[in-house]
Amino acid sequence: MMPKLLFYNTLSRQKEEFQALKKGQVGLYTCGPTVYNYSHVGNLRTYLFEDFLKRVLEYNGYKVKQVMNITDVGHLTGDRDMGEDKLEVGAKREKKTALEIAAFYTAAFQSDLQNLNIEEPTLWCKATENIPEQIALIKTLSEKGFTYQTSDGVYFDTSLVPNYNQLSHLPLAELKEGARVEKNPEKKNPTDFALWKFSPSGVKRQMEWPSPWGIGFPGWHIECSAMSLKYLGDERDIHCGGIDHINVHHTNEIAQSEAATGEKFFNYWLHGAFLNVKGGKKMSKSEGNFLTLENSLLKNGLNPLAYRFAACQVHYRKPMEYSLAGMKQAQEGLDSLYGQVAALGHQSGQVATSFQAEFQAAVNDDLNLPKALAIMAAVLKADLVAADKLATVLDFDRVFGLRLDQAEEMAKTDLDLRDLPDEIRSLVIARQAARNAKDWEEADRLRQEIKKFGYLLEDVAEGVRIFKA
Ligand SMILES: [Zn+2]
Repeated sequence: MMPKLLFYNTLSRQKEEFQALKKGQVGLYTCGPTVYNYSHVGNLRTYLFEDFLKRVLEYNGYKVKQVMNITDVGHLTGDRDMGEDKLEVGAKREKKTALEIAAFYTAAFQSDLQNLNIEEPTLWCKATENIPEQIALIKTLSEKGFTYQTSDGVYFDTSLVPNYNQLSHLPLAELKEGARVEKNPEKKNPTDFALWKFSPSGVKRQMEWPSPWGIGFPGWHIECSAMSLKYLGDERDIHCGGIDHINVHHTNEIAQSEAATGEKFFNYWLHGAFLNVKGGKKMSKSEGNFLTLENSLLKNGLNPLAYRFAACQVHYRKPMEYSLAGMKQAQEGLDSLYGQVAALGHQSGQVATSFQAEFQAAVNDDLNLPKALAIMAAVLKADLVAADKLATVLDFDRVFGLRLDQAEEMAKTDLDLRDLPDEIRSLVIARQAARNAKDWEEADRLRQEIKKFGYLLEDVAEGVRIFKA
């Protein structure tokens, strides 16, 4: 019999046995990035957690339909309803159009996912391509009497929803206090939020649309409601994101969706904990500790999968600490794992079923990946023939996603960027920068320069490998 699949549901604050709405299928909605800058490694931890979740569902035989949105409009700098539009700010900063900014950072995000071996969602959807659906949803809310208009937009009246705090479990007073940070005297309740914002008079925004209420753009929360209702239909099983989405974004998504449809929005809400920079600080641009995959791992010659490996070692609901030393340690651990798996040879035998049962019980217990890693370590030490060990760890890697099927290639001994003389290291980094800027001529010149010092370079998907000539 299949072991039970348990998830911690933020709605009930308990581990619950997962029951899909449709047999053998799961609808999964994962809130995507606002594409006005690179994702930082903290954001990427959330996408890793969601990938582990998806893979565990697949490991249990479910067919997963995953929808991820791209927020390419209307997400304001204040995260609520005040401040400037992040896309328009990015466009101004980089002297590009908002659409160019969105396209550039969408591609950068997708390349991060690839580097981390995160499976692509079944369906990507963009806020700007679903404006009529958002307007229709606001219209329904307005017809049902849940909205009111102020001088700057159309707002949702949260006082009309009896269980507004069903996800946060916070006293209403506390939610209101949190919402007071951004003052808007025209709002009836501090927790009310914008469904539609008007373009300021006299200002021509790059992104604005006509609506029954006036020219403007949708609020951030409405896009996820409109797109999950549209693309998942009646398969609204699991909705996830980072814990920072609980009190505002997801709370508001639930309030407006349930008000509009009269139905339960999603059955399961799963949230991933933060990645803190050493010392317990949350990662953010304002703290000056904004780490991207590029400047934290790739630049230091580390494989992004070392970060993935580190994320397997901490349960997704526990905070994780980032430090360069920690990442180097993870890289060493991963290298050793690749070495052990490569040593098993090429012949794949039978999956060891008792270990497999233990493994599945661990990942099915609210994604206990740290325990699952320990089970994999036990397999590698067990009294089994190499072929069976290989079959078993490759079976487990359907969840870990560490590319253990390429262990031999990954274990190939190349030089570590960290071990190079400073002079060579800066040349290699300069060449990577030239490549990133698609300045092939300069990249080639630097390759020749590096060769003069007796080093050879090989460009691979994860960056560059360095060998002694
Ligand atoms: Zn969302």
